[in-house]
Amino acid sequence: MHTKRIDKDLAALPLPPNMRDREAAWRGFSWDEARRGLSGLPGGGLNIAYEAVDRHALGERAGHTALRLLSADGRRRNIHYDELRRLSNRFANVLTSLGIGRGDRVFVLCGRRLELYLAVLGSFKAGAVVSPLFSAFGPEPIATRVQLGQGALLVTTASLYRRKVAAMRAQMPSLRHVLLVGDDDASANLSTPNEPGTLDLGQLMDKASDDFAIAPTRPDDPALLHFTSGTTGTPKGALHVHGAALTHYVTGQYALDLHPQDIYWCTADPGWVTGTSYGIIAPLLHGVTSIIDEAEFDAEHWYRILQEERVSVWYTAPTAIRMLMKAGPELAHQFHFPALRFIASVGEPLNPEAVWWGADVLGLPIHDNWWQTETGGIMIANTVAMPIKPGSMGKPLPGVEACIVRHQADRPIEVLSDAEAVGELALKAGWPSMFRRYLGQDERYRKCFSGELYLTGDLARRDADGYYWFVGRADDVIKSSGHLIGPFEVESALMEHPAVAEAAVIGKPDEMVGEVVKAFVSLKRGIEASEALRAELLGHARKRLGAAVAPKEIAFLPTLPRTRSGKIMRRLLKARELGLPEGDLSTLEEGA
Ligand code: AMP
Repeated sequence: MHTKRIDKDLAALPLPPNMRDREAAWRGFSWDEARRGLSGLPGGGLNIAYEAVDRHALGERAGHTALRLLSADGRRRNIHYDELRRLSNRFANVLTSLGIGRGDRVFVLCGRRLELYLAVLGSFKAGAVVSPLFSAFGPEPIATRVQLGQGALLVTTASLYRRKVAAMRAQMPSLRHVLLVGDDDASANLSTPNEPGTLDLGQLMDKASDDFAIAPTRPDDPALLHFTSGTTGTPKGALHVHGAALTHYVTGQYALDLHPQDIYWCTADPGWVTGTSYGIIAPLLHGVTSIIDEAEFDAEHWYRILQEERVSVWYTAPTAIRMLMKAGPELAHQFHFPALRFIASVGEPLNPEAVWWGADVLGLPIHDNWWQTETGGIMIANTVAMPIKPGSMGKPLPGVEACIVRHQADRPIEVLSDAEAVGELALKAGWPSMFRRYLGQDERYRKCFSGELYLTGDLARRDADGYYWFVGRADDVIKSSGHLIGPFEVESALMEHPAVAEAAVIGKPDEMVGEVVKAFVSLKRGIEASEALRAELLGHARKRLGAAVAPKEIAFLPTLPRTRSGKIMRRLLKARELGLPEGDLSTLEEGA
């Protein structure tokens, strides 16, 4: 019988936790004191790459493995801290030789391979702002983001370039250079990239020097640009600064409980914020070894990695856990995980059954935590020594002040002071990894704040013990496999099809991936709905947006419900789809 709470026996933990007493640590915490965990640049200033790589490479951990790369064809390569320092220096030299420097935007579109890590770290060193993109995006989301971010340079693979970038190049006039990584993919039949208008990264790296003087960046200088989706309009480019490293360091310590000898594995895609903050930065800040697996999800393969690489700290996501659960306990029981001591999950609600499944099948419960692109790092977490309430996201980490607010249109925000409360989750602004703006969208940025509070757009409940529970999104943004999808971007791609008059997109609950994208489409006058047209529209969206973003289902409707002011009522479509009460229809246009 599963209880409502999982208590921890601290004496039975294999290592003393970094945070034994969450309440005392939270009360006694100060960011100024925490800053002692970072070194700062020798000449003054702060640069993420120096903290993550060089300070270890110049000290006792020079020969310690920083990255262990497992390639899709089964090869294994260890890169130690000093090698990572030299290789990222080379990349920074390549950038400089091409005239890319302070403040320039470098986009990276490639899977989990060494060049991605070198591009991110080398860009930090050169003072450039780096923006990793999701390689499952189709040509349109890629071009939109490079254009919005005014990308000056793109690093990608030869096959991704050919399939997703080359045809859109004219729509990205800011792009001065494209650096190609050779394909390992045998089907691409190319060992050296050879596309017009591109340069071969390997050749440039071979010629570059191992020495580089890191740009003297300050904590408030921009370092990272992450795109996230809203309900309306174009994606939002959230800008993060070098000073964010302090949050990454502290959360690596408290939320992930990283210790120097850990073998750590973050399974997030590098194109999303978790893949950068916790797939690259946090583990390197702690000088640990990160496993980087190039292959896609496969249950048996993942268990083998956990076992053979002796992973000790594992950071993954609910969709992946549900897929492992589906593969059955028999498969898990063929493997042993004696080195594993902490499992965390993020990105979407983690069902209580999944927490218990971890305890029963893997021998460790799964610790849910919460954050978002804008927060830059973990804010609320179930930590190693805290009792877990399965289904809850945990409690605010040291340095984070969370609250629940009542946020109604045209009324001032009200902070709910009762211990138990339900409403919008808000955070007191000022933690180091807080985003500093949405590129070119000042009004949208301003609207995220009320006084000193940052409004997260998530609805949550706080219980009497101070645990936070996810309730839902306050907006129409869709979460599929942990990835945020903006309905507007999907609707716009559908509307480009000549048969479509209007489109509205919702997230339809799905047991495995959280939500799938479902589109409602009304057709232009004289065009008949048919199965052939449905298949054509699905194919059209997939080609433009990529499989991860495109709708999985399309329904035809004669007209879409709109408010009198002309806004499509996605909420009503969703309520009808799910057979839920339709709510307040007073603003619905006649006849819809
Ligand atoms: P992103 O900015 O893409 O990382 O998405 C952030 C959003 O994912 C949050 O605002 C939540 O809606 C959702 N999310 C993240 N972590 C959790 C969690 N532990 N439980 C429920 N939802 C989550």
